Amino acid sequence: MGKLFGTNGVRGVANNELTVEMITRLAASAGAFLGNGIALGMDGRTTSPMFKRAAVSGLLSVGCSVYDVGMLPTPALQFYVRRHGLNGGLMVTASHNPPEFNGVKVMACDGVEISREQESEIEKTYFKGGPELCPWNRIGRVRKEEPLEAYKEAVIGHVKSEVVKNARLKVALDPGNGVAALTAPDIARELGCNVFTLNVNVDGRFPSRDSEPRPDNLSDLSSLVKSSGADVGVAFDGDGDRSIFVDEKGEVHWGDRSFALVAKEYLREHEGAKVATPVSSSRVIEDIVSEGGGEVVWTMVGSVVVSRRMVDDGVMLGGEENGGIMYGPHLEARDGSMALALILEIMAKEERPLSELFGELPQYEQMKDRVSCPHELKEDALNALQEKVDAARVETMDGVKLWYDDGSWILIRPSGTEPIFRLYAESKKKERVKEILEGNKALIESVIESLKYP
Ligand code: MG
Repeated sequence: MGKLFGTNGVRGVANNELTVEMITRLAASAGAFLGNGIALGMDGRTTSPMFKRAAVSGLLSVGCSVYDVGMLPTPALQFYVRRHGLNGGLMVTASHNPPEFNGVKVMACDGVEISREQESEIEKTYFKGGPELCPWNRIGRVRKEEPLEAYKEAVIGHVKSEVVKNARLKVALDPGNGVAALTAPDIARELGCNVFTLNVNVDGRFPSRDSEPRPDNLSDLSSLVKSSGADVGVAFDGDGDRSIFVDEKGEVHWGDRSFALVAKEYLREHEGAKVATPVSSSRVIEDIVSEGGGEVVWTMVGSVVVSRRMVDDGVMLGGEENGGIMYGPHLEARDGSMALALILEIMAKEERPLSELFGELPQYEQMKDRVSCPHELKEDALNALQEKVDAARVETMDGVKLWYDDGSWILIRPSGTEPIFRLYAESKKKERVKEILEGNKALIESVIESLKYP
């Protein structure tokens, strides 16, 4: 059977890998599976209105009524689905991908992306030609909704807003021409912040920077932080579910470190709590959680897996190294604006510069690499690798993760989409991280060679 869903919904280059016909059939298949009453939203991409109309048609054709929530961040749609007890939601978005891409994320009735099993059910219907269509007199209806005010209020309601207001923080925001522009600046202003903005006009061509915020493309934000004297800078990805933080000195901190700050504060307030994160996350999460008396719940890589695990096990905090923070009391899904509010609250309580708060976290050196491997050999290569590795602890939940006695680790993980293994290594010392990366790279290469030429 064919595959539609990737790590995070359905994605492809618009009018090439992904067509209006496909979206119509996908929406019909999803609607037939989820049931009547589906929220439908979109990001600011140039092809999103086209695909949204296709999704409307698909949903109506199977008798689903559509709650059209317009253009908004993905988490705002997710929140709407849950708040109104709908059967599900569809978001037309390609998240942080380049502008030529688009796609669809499918949410269940709890507002969280559907599970891998549910994705396969929808794929089954899709690949058999689509679901049964409803009779002419049972076609669904479309109603327009205005979901943003209630969403912003809910985010603000999860933090001690008076404390944040009294701190009168200065905040520089860079939505990167994505839809976080529709919520993040208002939320910061409502929380009493003095807000400076950059790339705040929604533009699906992403003219200013890649829609994935990374340390190498946030120099404009760093400059704005410094020139405006802001206490913090925040950048968002294209659909507003991920956020990356910049301290008052203009230094960009990767997502695992902002997640660690949130986890530290959360454990202060919730003794012994569980925190969910994928096996690819930095050791800094493990350190902070165990220091705070909590427990790490490791999951496979992919935000959907983390979110679903949170729902299943009642875990109230989750996060990924790429800047996706999931705050359960609000929504067990990534939300860039919620992360913004949580970090502002921490800064207001601490009354100290963000660089100092980040500086107190344990420091690790990280390195990444990749090794080519044909798809058909990946599984055998992983099995053979497990036999050969030498480490204090071996975890095989997603690829092979090795922990060494000195706290260093490496993860060797097959890419779901490319014919490669991705290698992530981390250690306190630069030489050591290089050593374990190179040693294990040579090992996996020799394993793959021996499978190619037995
Ligand atoms: Mg995203």
